[in-house]
Amino acid sequence: MLPFRLIFHPAFTVDLGPHVFPAQKYRQVRDRLLETGTADHGDFVVPLPATDDDVRRVHTADYVRKLKDGDFTSAELARMEVPWSRALVEASWLAAGAALEAARRARADGCAIALCGGFHHAFADHGEGFCLVNDVAVATQALRASGEVGRVAIVDLDVHHGNGTASIFAGDADTFTLSLHQERNYPVVKPPSTIDVGLADGTDDDAYLAALDHVLPRAFDAAPELVWYVAGADPYAHDRLGGLALTQAGLRERDKRVFTAARRAGVPVAVTLAGGYAERTADTVSIHAATVAVAADVLRAEAA
Ligand SMILES: [Zn+2]
Repeated sequence: MLPFRLIFHPAFTVDLGPHVFPAQKYRQVRDRLLETGTADHGDFVVPLPATDDDVRRVHTADYVRKLKDGDFTSAELARMEVPWSRALVEASWLAAGAALEAARRARADGCAIALCGGFHHAFADHGEGFCLVNDVAVATQALRASGEVGRVAIVDLDVHHGNGTASIFAGDADTFTLSLHQERNYPVVKPPSTIDVGLADGTDDDAYLAALDHVLPRAFDAAPELVWYVAGADPYAHDRLGGLALTQAGLRERDKRVFTAARRAGVPVAVTLAGGYAERTADTVSIHAATVAVAADVLRAEAA
């Protein structure tokens, strides 16, 4: 049994048709964790969807209405880069609910991992880059509305800049946002996070980890009550939408440093998976599954 819970729902996986986003990865990560004995069935928690009120704390009423009705122009749909469907909308509400569940479980157990989400390209008034609802933002504001959490830090290590998250939390002194990403990649316009680190094409394990070590302590300086870890698998060398050169071992080391820093600071860490478009989807699944295994190692070592 894991020392923390995994948040999973079969409806995270939506049929997108032929698409670069491997929506089947969510189910495959769960299956991999069970097959390898990393997790057992009792480790999984089924989330409820976020409420409309939760979503409207972050997203505009007009955008929420458009999402529910599928009432988008072709330009808006092109910017989303995913085909609208009711199932996709339900999965987006579910991902936000999963993030909220992960945050609550993390506050109880020190860590929790939602096996979905990390939709950091979703803005208050529009979706883009496969992201419709900014799950981390919705969960953060729901926790604040109920008085559970004040200050939070968001450590976004997806290969793409967290533009939606940066925009939503711009000017919010209680939210520290860190984005460590490939500079010459989507999104072209990168609204400022609290700290942005734009990495050069082809950045390898050593250079990446050095850059991470340089900025990661800053996430804990403001004494957050919760840290979100947006653990994208797409800094991987063989990612089709990424241009960095991390190995799977390098990504495990990345995860280890984040979990270790959070535990040393005594801050609960809630994880979302974010991107991952490896040439072999099995590699993306391995990277996400390793995040779970590394978190377990760090928490068990601490308890020992
Ligand atoms: Zn990404």
